[in-house]
Amino acid sequence: MKIIKVDEKTVPISSEISNAFIDFSKMTASIVAITTDVIRDGKPVIGYGFNSNGRYAPTGLLNDRFIPRLLEAKAQDIINDEENNLDPFKIHDILMQNEKPGGHGERSVAVGVLDMAIWDAVAKIESKPLYRLLSERYGDGQVDDKVFVYAAGGYYSPGKGLKELQDEMKNYLDLGYTHVKMKVGGAPLHEDLKRIEAVLEVVPSGQHLAVDVNGKFNLKEAIEFGEKIEDYNLFWYEEVGDPLDYRLQAVLSEHYPNPMATGENLFSFQDATNLIRYAGLNPKKDYLQFDCALSYGLVEYMKILDMLERNGWSSRRCIPHGGHQLSLNIAAGLKLGGNESYPGVFQPFGGFADNCAFEDGYVSLPSIPGIGFEAKENLYTELAKIGG
Ligand code: MG
Repeated sequence: MKIIKVDEKTVPISSEISNAFIDFSKMTASIVAITTDVIRDGKPVIGYGFNSNGRYAPTGLLNDRFIPRLLEAKAQDIINDEENNLDPFKIHDILMQNEKPGGHGERSVAVGVLDMAIWDAVAKIESKPLYRLLSERYGDGQVDDKVFVYAAGGYYSPGKGLKELQDEMKNYLDLGYTHVKMKVGGAPLHEDLKRIEAVLEVVPSGQHLAVDVNGKFNLKEAIEFGEKIEDYNLFWYEEVGDPLDYRLQAVLSEHYPNPMATGENLFSFQDATNLIRYAGLNPKKDYLQFDCALSYGLVEYMKILDMLERNGWSSRRCIPHGGHQLSLNIAAGLKLGGNESYPGVFQPFGGFADNCAFEDGYVSLPSIPGIGFEAKENLYTELAKIGG
């Protein structure tokens, strides 16, 4: 078997929303299609991938380095002969040839996009949903038949007041979500506290609301804000300071007693390891949000899961950032704690399969081969424009 071609396209996912650090007015994403010579149901198998929101399309990196490396590789260097299938681990090594350690930049995003497409193709070649393949090959063989997802929203946007914020959150609860998240840190403290209190009026309790600072606070601000929200007993306090400032996180953990979450902007196994070593996180109460689609893909994520286990962390403490179907498959197949979800934003990439049962904060997965993109019509319409 072989890869016939790799197509890439840069697409806009712009919107008027903003968090404490960036607005999304010029946001883009890369989509890729890896076309193989394997035929299933009368058609060549095509694996699709994209990068999740928050990082721009790594177009140059893909076209200048990573796609050529994949296409120039010898068949024996990317294929697993026993399974007569692509080998994501060998491909990871090919992609990372001649890349120095450290300084990950956004090459981790480019590799993540290709890794997603490879896993989609691998599962399609095996004629299985990816979550089942993951569970059988790398897990305990038992898949979770539904996955916890929470609604991430509460962005700042022009003209949005407390009433609109409450309506947004009520809408998430009406859709079947039990837990919601809102942005903080992008307004003065007293305004953010009013926004939090407005949302607390519409959710069942503080345990159903998480707040996300997107890395904005310095240590003093982080502690001060933490003191103000401590009594709300929130679901979690997210990415409070710079993602690489492990000391800030560690000192904050001596002040803030409730759950915290971070990790979406750590893009490598080594960064994740340093977080666990030095950031004072508590495996009994805190959450980890590494997003494989931004951080070298599932091959790297599996190394991170191994590292977590060695350090006494359950995979259930992982609730990845990104709201995409690859992490949903990993959650179901390798037993994570859940996945983020963005109802209504970052379309068509955010969200899960159409017509899948969604109830009490849990979503089920489609049973089609691959990651499940073909079961999400607006996404598949976009992806199907390339490849083939
Ligand atoms: Mg976040």
